[in-house]
Amino acid sequence: MKEESKKEAVINFLKRYGYIIGLSAFMLILSIILIVSANKPNESDNNPVNTDPISFYNPLLNFTVAKEFNDTNLVYNSTLKQWEAHKGVCLTAPENSEVFAVLDGVVEDVYSNYLNGTVVVLSHANNLKTYYSSLGEDVPVKKGDTVKQGDVIGKISNTGANELNLGNHLHFEVTENDVKVDPATYLDLENK
Ligand SMILES: [Zn+2]
Repeated sequence: MKEESKKEAVINFLKRYGYIIGLSAFMLILSIILIVSANKPNESDNNPVNTDPISFYNPLLNFTVAKEFNDTNLVYNSTLKQWEAHKGVCLTAPENSEVFAVLDGVVEDVYSNYLNGTVVVLSHANNLKTYYSSLGEDVPVKKGDTVKQGDVIGKISNTGANELNLGNHLHFEVTENDVKVDPATYLDLENK
């Protein structure tokens, strides 16, 4: 076969089948891209729920754990001279120690009564709420305020008659979906 007719044959072949070869190559590349991207781990598919542990600030800088959380056994309240469940944690610290918001949140309530002293309630994301009891009367926040984690929301005092024998302390509670849970789950309660 002559050189010229060889060339012609190739050209004729490409004219006839070139688009099929091109299309096949294109489909092959497209398939590879699809397969590779389908196998790539997808962040949002693997983590439909944010599983990052929620990390609280401690509500006080320096404290001693005076009473731990206990929702099953009754704990003797030496002030009220009665046995009761203690669904929070009591932290003692020097009078007027600043109390910090453990998470970003909104002030849901501020109130005072004889048993609990002044109480600040914060609501947070993830259906969490935190309660700070036995605060001094003067608190720098009011209902509806937005607070940042670490903001000062009050100072501790011995005004809560409920646990007067503890002296200056913070009675701290956490609720998850309105159920009281052990604050130790979220706090670093090694004595500070
Ligand atoms: Zn307490």
